[in-house]
Amino acid sequence: MPAEHQLFTAALGLQAPWQVSDVRFDPEAGRIDFDVQLPAGTRFCCPRCGVVDQPVYDTRERSWRHLHFFQYQAFIHARLPRVRCTECGKTSQVAVPWARPGSGFTQLFEALVVALCREMPVNTVAARFAVGDDAIWRILEHDVHSARDRADFSQVRRIGVDETASRRGQHDISLFHDFDEGRLLFACAGRDQQTVARFAEELSAHGGDPERVEAACMDMSKAYIAGTGKHLPNAAITFDAFHVIQLANEAVDHVRRMEVKAEPALKHSRWTWLRDKHAWSKRQMIQAHELTRLRLKTARAWRLKETLRDLFRQAENREQADALFSSWYSWARRSRLAPFKRLAATLQRHRQGLLNAFDSRLSNGRVEGINSLIQAAKARARGYRTTRSLATIAYLIAGKLVHLPASPYTQVRAKTAS
Ligand SMILES: [Zn+2]
Repeated sequence: MPAEHQLFTAALGLQAPWQVSDVRFDPEAGRIDFDVQLPAGTRFCCPRCGVVDQPVYDTRERSWRHLHFFQYQAFIHARLPRVRCTECGKTSQVAVPWARPGSGFTQLFEALVVALCREMPVNTVAARFAVGDDAIWRILEHDVHSARDRADFSQVRRIGVDETASRRGQHDISLFHDFDEGRLLFACAGRDQQTVARFAEELSAHGGDPERVEAACMDMSKAYIAGTGKHLPNAAITFDAFHVIQLANEAVDHVRRMEVKAEPALKHSRWTWLRDKHAWSKRQMIQAHELTRLRLKTARAWRLKETLRDLFRQAENREQADALFSSWYSWARRSRLAPFKRLAATLQRHRQGLLNAFDSRLSNGRVEGINSLIQAAKARARGYRTTRSLATIAYLIAGKLVHLPASPYTQVRAKTAS
């Protein structure tokens, strides 16, 4: 074998008996093509029954996209052998060490695609490699789901469930995450009781046990509550700060919308009222200062909401939370603000679940953390067509999957780190 063929055989990571037999370099087309072949007379095990020393029956020309060589697109071409087994009589395709069956990409190329799709939208990755979006999606579907098939859920004890719209005005998706590991466990279409049943099945399929789930954190939707009671029988249902504040924000906005016609000063103030006061910009601070002097209903609503937020910040245990909630509840009931009277009634009805948050210390920071990952997933999946595609990206960036292929360019670093 000429020296440069030996070099490329090594550079492509090929194992014997495969070796580079020809290299064609076309700088104008920006590509480099490698022919890879087997020495004449190479014999294989039967891929079906494993009987050794079978001759090649016939071959089929195939090509694979490989990692770039410098700035050049690289392709591997080989004649894939089939063996007709003398033992089992079946004719079957021999697997190649550089690609999984049926893929037009090498495993290293796929690993790079997976690594890049964690950082940038799928269509950007597709454009960068000048391949179709569909090809990138097929790689992701395969690699992410096979990594997820191997994920271990045996230690899952405290979960959270959230819903998100897959696309504006489209179907809801339920997302189940692991509070202790901060990872997405399961995403599926729908937000009814059945989604909790499907989650319980997934949990079992990955070595977990629905009976050992101790706490389930959720919004106050009847479907999740009922589904959890049925399918996660030992989970304490918990309503976390994030969802409670979400409801309080809706109530504030309701009051503001009723009042804005009579009080034009309230125009363009929506985000000031909804935002955590600790996160106000200077402009919002001034605006709030001006508006709170106007004896507005919206300002009273806002104070009710912020007091509720403070309850979650200040209470150190269930007893303190219970006492603070009692005084908030009577204030809200007397507030003469219909949306807050309704909210107070709702929270009172779910009081135990609200207080459970202080037992199980389910930090709302984690819910927000997961939510921001899901928002990132939506951005990465721009142009996706199905719920499954969004779920794939969500698993990729929020699933903490340990069996994903490692990026071909970070292997060395990963090894020294461990
Ligand atoms: Zn055989």
